[in-house]
Amino acid sequence: MCVAYTVFRLPEQLMGEQLMSGPGSRAPQLSITDPKVCRSYLVGTCPHDLFTNTKQDIGLCPKVHSEPLKIEYEAADAEQKRKWAFEYDYLRDMQKYIDECNRRIDSAQRRLEKTPDEIRQTNALVRHPTCTFSQ
Ligand SMILES: [Zn+2]
Repeated sequence: MCVAYTVFRLPEQLMGEQLMSGPGSRAPQLSITDPKVCRSYLVGTCPHDLFTNTKQDIGLCPKVHSEPLKIEYEAADAEQKRKWAFEYDYLRDMQKYIDECNRRIDSAQRRLEKTPDEIRQTNALVRHPTCTFSQ
């Protein structure tokens, strides 16, 4: 369990306990369809967690990672899951990060492809005075 994730979870847990112990107050449990809930987390792995402490680190997820809702999602039947269609959100989300990774790979490869040219240019500059003198 990474530190960032634990820190992120903490206020949520404290808040939950506080609200639970409040006199006569109903714990405002987020609905599984609430837009504040992170759907990637429910379905699989949130990209924000996936890239923590890597070069691709995209910071903390702005949405709620709710363990009870993840359990609720896992327990739901296929029909219900189809209606929620969280997997589409998940795939769309993941695709976004895969595209981003591919873009980075592309630009890294372009940099590599450029290198022999740069070497030639550098060599040409270094050799040029010699050429001039030998002519
Ligand atoms: Zn998330």
